[in-house]
Amino acid sequence: MPIYICPNCKRRSVDLDGYEGFSTQAVQCRDCGFGFLFELLEDYYPAPGTGFVVCDADARVLAAGRGVFELTGFADADLLGRDVADALALSDASPIAVVREWGVRKLGQKIEIRTKAGLEKSVTADFFPAYDEDGGLLLALTPR
Ligand SMILES: [Zn+2]
Repeated sequence: MPIYICPNCKRRSVDLDGYEGFSTQAVQCRDCGFGFLFELLEDYYPAPGTGFVVCDADARVLAAGRGVFELTGFADADLLGRDVADALALSDASPIAVVREWGVRKLGQKIEIRTKAGLEKSVTADFFPAYDEDGGLLLALTPR
């Protein structure tokens, strides 16, 4: 049964009534109205400080959820359309290629990012592949 997570408010929902998968229109979070829901094959429990970044199939940022600004100093507009590995200066971007090529999760990656202020920050990064036709991926960043 598909599980969806809102990259903004982190509400997890199970597609009980077919609402999320019902139309080809962009689905929205029923709680906060965020324009993306991300489908997960297995449930996932983000930490309170986790920030989600939604990327397209080319790993360019489509949306950043609540918490990303607190973590990185980047506002949405700073990130939109940019290559996520470049924008956040991921110390190891190889999980992105694995996720895109193999369609598997890469969880618990200990990497560094660079904040807008130029500071290195240690995070645990979880990478999720998108299961829709557009591809793409979800990046969950948790400070450590
Ligand atoms: Zn939401």
